Amino acid sequence: MPAFPEAAEAAVRDEVLRGNLRHATGTIRARRAAAVAELSDWAALRAAGAAIKERTLRHLDHYLLQVEERVTAAGGVVHWAADAAEANRIVTDLVRETGEREVVKVKSMATQEIGLNEALAEAGITAYETDLAELIVQLGDDRPSHILVPAIHRNRGEIREIFADRMATWGRPAPDGLTDEPAELAEAARLHLREKFLRARVAVSGANFVVAETGTLAVVESEGNGRMCLTLPETLISVVGIEKIVPTWRDLEVFLQLLPRSSTAERMNPYTSLWTGTTEGDGPRAFHLVLLDNGRSDTLADTVGRQALRCIRCSACLNVCPVYERTGGHAYGSVYPGPIGAILTPQLQGMEDELAASLPYASSLCGACYEVCPVAIDIPDVLVHLRERAANGGAVSRRGTPVRIRPARGHAAERAAMRAAAWAFDRPGALRAAQRLGAATRRLHPRRLPGPGRAWTASRDLPTFPEQSFRDWWTRNRDDRQP
Ligand code: SF4
Repeated sequence: MPAFPEAAEAAVRDEVLRGNLRHATGTIRARRAAAVAELSDWAALRAAGAAIKERTLRHLDHYLLQVEERVTAAGGVVHWAADAAEANRIVTDLVRETGEREVVKVKSMATQEIGLNEALAEAGITAYETDLAELIVQLGDDRPSHILVPAIHRNRGEIREIFADRMATWGRPAPDGLTDEPAELAEAARLHLREKFLRARVAVSGANFVVAETGTLAVVESEGNGRMCLTLPETLISVVGIEKIVPTWRDLEVFLQLLPRSSTAERMNPYTSLWTGTTEGDGPRAFHLVLLDNGRSDTLADTVGRQALRCIRCSACLNVCPVYERTGGHAYGSVYPGPIGAILTPQLQGMEDELAASLPYASSLCGACYEVCPVAIDIPDVLVHLRERAANGGAVSRRGTPVRIRPARGHAAERAAMRAAAWAFDRPGALRAAQRLGAATRRLHPRRLPGPGRAWTASRDLPTFPEQSFRDWWTRNRDDRQP
């Protein structure tokens, strides 16, 4: 993937895409603000959510072992996956052991992060997405562009075309004469998916939360597809990031209030599914929990950046971000787009590649993301922290081992300019001489910088050099007042 500015270039010129994004994010933004305003104790809930996550992350080793013990005691099997390849191998082997060649999936960021569908396809296993927006993305051979509404970049007409053209390839075709009325589109998806729910013997899910004290997993959703996947198949495999743990049910109560209002602007999610291991005569006969690290332990080692692990994937920060609203999610080149993606992806993947190193710059630092975040992640603070790392390099943790990363390419000119400025600011005589030279030649200064500075002045004017420095002005005015 190219760096963010190049990846975003086509998106910002696409007027249909920008119209779709403006309409969708504007609507969700307004509804979220109204839902949050209903609660007089929202600030206290937000502080509680942040504190619970912070405390849990500090003692994550303890809670992870507690989860393993409780899930095992309840009849589940816990697997540990250090990275994407290991998680994919575990899930593929588990599906193979059942003898099945297809699985149904509940929308899950963790499985997108590790590329599970592609890994299953390589093993000859077809994964069917059952969330409506994920179905649109899968049928359209597309990529998700939003955490909550992966097909936010599509309008109704485009969705109708995708259904009409592609549904037959994946199973039950779209009804004849399908229009772009939302009810008709939803009915087409319902009929298409129903046969998959009734046929599937294996399901793959993520989880919004894992309650450590009982080993209970929670999935919240709006369409009921999750409930079907979690209850009908014989085998359930859940792939969950290790940061999804909350210690107790009382803690869960806080997040079940924060999440729906922040994400879908609802007072509670229409479907909240909770399960603990397996139960005789009810639900799947076998349950496997794959606990995924994939860069999370390394992120935890960074005392500033670790707050990104508090994220509950509500997507409120995307919906208020002026950069996301203009570029959409594809430019971020990751399953985590928007402000949270700009701080999470570089930490999970490392900042060695060009795209990851450019993501902390995909922000105006306006602070709107921090204002709406239900777990008070100071995203601008982490962005600045990661920019410093991109520019200067430094020590980070990779798979638990300390390594030094080199400064990202493209910052050599910036570093040289900063070194020159530091040198001049340290020497008053040199600074005065430079200011006088600048003032004397001000009419000759170009309006645009050449060379590596060109990008900086491509969208802003170079400030005009003042006729005199403050130091000269002060000397002259002070001297004038002297008798
Ligand atoms: S960073 Fe905060 S606002 Fe953004 S998705 Fe995560 S929890 Fe929601």
